[in-house]
Amino acid sequence: MVKSSVLGYPRIGAEREWKRTLEAFWSGKLEESELHSRLQEIRLNHLRKQQEKGIDFIPVNDFSYYDHVLDTATMFGIIPKRFPYEGGVVPLSVYYGIARGTKHATASEMTKWFNTNYHYIVPELDGASPVLTENKPLAAYREAKEKLGIEGRPVIVGPLTFLKLSKGYDTSETDAWLNRLLPLYVQILQELEREGVQWVQIDEPILVTKLSGADVKRLQTIYETFAGSVPGLNIMLQTYFESAENYSDIVRLPVKGIGLDFVHGLAGNMASLKELGFPADKILGAGVIDGRGIWKASLREKLVLLQELAELVTAERLIVQSSCSLLHVPVTVKKEASLIPELKNALAFADEKLDELVLLAKAFSSGEAVISDELEKCERALQALNHSGERNRIDVQRAVAAVSAKHPERTLPFSERFLAQQKKWQLPIFPTTTIGSFPQSAEVRKARQLWRKGEWNNEQYDSFIREQIDTWIRLQEEIGLDVLVHGEFERTDMVEFFGEKLAGFAFTQNGWVQSYGSRCVKPPIIYGDVAFVKPMTVEETTYAQSKTKRPVKGMLTGPITIMNWSFVREDMTREQIACQLAFALRQEVEALEDAGIRMIQVDEPAVREGLPLKEKDQAEYLEWAVNAFRMTTCTVQDTTQIHTHMCYCEFHDMIDSIEAMDADVISIETSRSHGELIHSFELNTYKLGIGLGVYDIHSPRIPRVKEITAMIERALRVLDPKLFWINPDCGLKTRGFEETIDSLRNMVEATQIARARH
Ligand code: GLN
Ligand code: ZN
Repeated sequence: MVKSSVLGYPRIGAEREWKRTLEAFWSGKLEESELHSRLQEIRLNHLRKQQEKGIDFIPVNDFSYYDHVLDTATMFGIIPKRFPYEGGVVPLSVYYGIARGTKHATASEMTKWFNTNYHYIVPELDGASPVLTENKPLAAYREAKEKLGIEGRPVIVGPLTFLKLSKGYDTSETDAWLNRLLPLYVQILQELEREGVQWVQIDEPILVTKLSGADVKRLQTIYETFAGSVPGLNIMLQTYFESAENYSDIVRLPVKGIGLDFVHGLAGNMASLKELGFPADKILGAGVIDGRGIWKASLREKLVLLQELAELVTAERLIVQSSCSLLHVPVTVKKEASLIPELKNALAFADEKLDELVLLAKAFSSGEAVISDELEKCERALQALNHSGERNRIDVQRAVAAVSAKHPERTLPFSERFLAQQKKWQLPIFPTTTIGSFPQSAEVRKARQLWRKGEWNNEQYDSFIREQIDTWIRLQEEIGLDVLVHGEFERTDMVEFFGEKLAGFAFTQNGWVQSYGSRCVKPPIIYGDVAFVKPMTVEETTYAQSKTKRPVKGMLTGPITIMNWSFVREDMTREQIACQLAFALRQEVEALEDAGIRMIQVDEPAVREGLPLKEKDQAEYLEWAVNAFRMTTCTVQDTTQIHTHMCYCEFHDMIDSIEAMDADVISIETSRSHGELIHSFELNTYKLGIGLGVYDIHSPRIPRVKEITAMIERALRVLDPKLFWINPDCGLKTRGFEETIDSLRNMVEATQIARARH
């Protein structure tokens, strides 16, 4: 009988009870003992669910009080020195302090977990002396066994991945750090072996990225050490999110099983397997069910895939598993009440994926016939969606194909547009502007709620939004900004707002996914052909423009950001989806232009998030991502000024791509790496309009004029003054009213000083 396995299960709970429990504890409404017991209940619930569905290898220790990387660090007593810690089991106050910051100490950095939207806490190794503070995997194993009789498979972040994701050490110290950590891992594994644990899952997603020769050696040291210390414990060395690099080194490691991703790394892993074979003494964890996508799998196709794998590896040595932890998908489709049936029936969230795994294992062992009903049902559901009107808007497909065939290009090159625009706009040197949103006060949120609940009609809501616009147009004029914005008061979220107005999108009621800590996001689903329906932003923008003589910038979210922050259909490439989005948004750009709005900002903060993990795939992605932006913006007149904005990420290695977007002006976040970013602009001699954020909007602190002046002067050492704009780092949505005004006043004052000097 072929076995099924899950690599991890979502923590948040079907009703986000995990989130609510953590937040109640943080706000002091829950005692610590109550926190423990509630979280245990949630944890056991999740285990029970997997047990009842019939999963053979159920993960334990995948649960967390915040983040599994932080768990690993605290388990090893790796606590940044700024937190009071005296050894032993790490108290929750310290644990959450590292995650969220305290009055006295800033939180540790948080960053993206590979190419997902999950963020982990970056371990800080400097000054730490690792010791094993507790054996979390063992505790989790015991709990599952005692409470539910489950023979769990503990999950641990592997040593190489842990080291690679940590900071606070020099690469020359890597081996020293490995030598400190390795004995602790061994201790954990030995205790597990002594307990009678059969399998552990050691996650090494770092193995899908390029490793140096030294890292490959380290990998060998690690797994040889384990093999020598715990000969009786079966290790499943798990990779995911892409195909394994260094395949031949990996399969030679002395472990019992190797887990490979046959969804996101299908082509690469398959090629390696065929070319280099798979050792006869190992089990293959075949990740065939997508752990991070939301669509039902075609069981038929998956059975064909499994058959193919069985021919290479033999059926006895296969485990049917998810491609990665199910952490990245919502909990269940069951409760979704408002989706059209064609869509709902084609979805599989975590719980539905459990069913798929069990069905596949069953059919693979005993023949397709045993699940013939399910096979049939599954194919019918997938077909119904593929044949739905939403996926077959022939007019849209034709129009997009026609547009994509042309190279998207503005009529004039930037140097000539620049002159035409200077003449038209007559802006002072160092024009000042903001990124788009102004504070969304409690009042604004309340108004939206009243309107959504139907307690306010459209007129009431619209007139409220207009009042907000009035207020902020007046304020911006009074502060002395040159290019104004309407403030985005009508938007909760920059993707949702457009998704709700474009065709091809759906919104779940409960499709939440953990983003970081207790913070969850509910990504829209792009399930049909995306199409422009009617103008989305023209009303508010032209209203704002009617209230002032100064230019008001229109404000859109770009195609790549919308795509990267949504779940997308899989019957089309991401490039094709991006083209559809670009074509739809282009119609909005044109509508704004027709309505007299001649400065238009298309935000692309999430461009980097879609960057493939493999270096060799990155250039291609960047090329079509840039193209999508250009397609969105290329049809405007020469004098219409296209702006863009980027934030949240590192840009210094993608400045060429940013330049290729050919936006007349980019405003860019710099607070996190000011010096470095400026340096890379210097190296790249960026030649378009640019506003480097001159103050950090993530902090409530009001920047002093002097500080802003220093920022401006530093940037001007590198950038052409004629091309330089002055703006904050990012949108001001999350800031307070007074502090925003004071900060902007200081920014304008610093600008005046700069103007006098240059
Ligand atoms: N225009 C958006 C705003 O100001 C940009 C948001 C962002 O950069 N993430 O809110
Ligand atoms: Zn931003």
